[in-house]
Amino acid sequence: MSRPARSRTLAAAWAERLAGAPDAVALSYGERRWTRAELDRAATALAGSLADRGVREGDRVGIRLQNVPAFPVALLASWKLGAVALVLNPMYTARELHVLLADSGAVGVLCAAGDRARVVEAGDGSALRWTLTAEELGDDLTAAGEADRVLPPAGADPGDPALMIYTSGTTGPPKGALSSHANVLATVETYADWLGLVEGDVSLAIAPLFHTTGAVAGAALALVRGLDLVLIGRFEPGAALAAIREHQVTFTVGAITAFSALGQHPDASPETCASLRVVASGGAPIAPATVAQLEERLGCYIHNVYGMTETTSAVVAVPTGRRAPVDPVTGSLSVGVCLPGVGARVVDPEGRELGPGEIGELELRGPSMMLGYHDRPAETAETLREGWLRTGDGGSIDADGWIYLADRLKDQINASGFKVWPREVEDVLCEHPAVLEAAVVGRPDEYRGETVVAFVALASGETVGPAELVEHARRRLAAYKVPREITVVEQLPKTATGKIQRRELRVDPA
Ligand code: AMP
Repeated sequence: MSRPARSRTLAAAWAERLAGAPDAVALSYGERRWTRAELDRAATALAGSLADRGVREGDRVGIRLQNVPAFPVALLASWKLGAVALVLNPMYTARELHVLLADSGAVGVLCAAGDRARVVEAGDGSALRWTLTAEELGDDLTAAGEADRVLPPAGADPGDPALMIYTSGTTGPPKGALSSHANVLATVETYADWLGLVEGDVSLAIAPLFHTTGAVAGAALALVRGLDLVLIGRFEPGAALAAIREHQVTFTVGAITAFSALGQHPDASPETCASLRVVASGGAPIAPATVAQLEERLGCYIHNVYGMTETTSAVVAVPTGRRAPVDPVTGSLSVGVCLPGVGARVVDPEGRELGPGEIGELELRGPSMMLGYHDRPAETAETLREGWLRTGDGGSIDADGWIYLADRLKDQINASGFKVWPREVEDVLCEHPAVLEAAVVGRPDEYRGETVVAFVALASGETVGPAELVEHARRRLAAYKVPREITVVEQLPKTATGKIQRRELRVDPA
């Protein structure tokens, strides 16, 4: 009999699964399979090696990898030591990564061999003491240390931080959201129960494991619930379809863009995807028409799911066997209803609770709300208020509890589920000597949901073409943040007080 989720750590939850069926397949990658016992030996070997490098309880251990076997090994190794797994986007440039390493105080990073030089460069001036590469773990993943080592018992409590993921801030540096063992287990257990996932189910990690969806609903859920976690490296639709067929995948969660890419692939068909029982899409808005098209193409209904880094992934979802209603006024597809144990309300700017159908800011509460932001008490207090987490998302709840998102309250751009803060891109454009001012907005895009476009005004007497500015941005920013289009204008629209009005630029000027 399992103990209640909140009274265990992730390491203890994994140990229970391991003891239950050590020979069950836990991880698959290409032709390779690892049983729970083999995966545990790999995690023990890595944990020992990290302990020898000085990693202690509460230390932040960076994991900067695509969806490869070393990733779940590193998660388990960190949790075995009571350390905090800090998942890092491998697309970040050295400059972007430096900010996160310095802020988090990460003691080391596990990365790909080809990425090591960049991580070392990024770690300059931070607390980074070591780097280790996925390749050094070897083919069977145990080469980093001794697989039979007896580790000291980790002193971590269920309420201690287990996972750290950075979210970009509108102003100032990004914030590291900390989720506890109990937070992660709350999402994993509730979501898996709700979806009816059981041991023997096969989960394809379509969402990147370095984001909250992939880390929690992908990796942690599969490990803790005893699913076979199928990894295919960086997402590629052909490889994903082949994996679905080969592994008879039953569950997957990803951003809608990934499912659209699957639908457009020539190998896509209801036969190829026949094994899929539960398909969930989170992180970005879904057009109702897309759900219908994909159902025809893939033979599966895509269940909308809503969550944030700060809510430790899924908190609102369309129940299996149900179809999301569409708001008759806005035409938007519902993101679902609250998962058990989660509460939602909509409030006006004064914090007064609004009635069914009224639009305001969505607030949430429940056992998966983050502990807070690392070293940022003011921002934490601003976001977690009187037991509620302020999402910054505008939305409404109908009389039956279906939740709809309206326009985001914040200016964030959502390109295929990757969140881009305009301010960061504007700052980079403004670093170009010819640029006087820049405004960055999201433009509706059939494929990505939104795409990043920029408008710049040049300093007097300067000339520069859009291509050079795109190249300037590309050298400094992760690819998804680079504007797809840059327009040079005489002047940017401003308010009377001189604030640039992004809103006026949001409509396609063409
Ligand atoms: P992140 O912390 O990167 O996962 O981003 C969380 C944000 O993604 C939320 O605040 C929403 O703005 C957006 N989001 C997440 N899930 C959905 C969804 N199903 N539909 C629309 N937007 C979503």
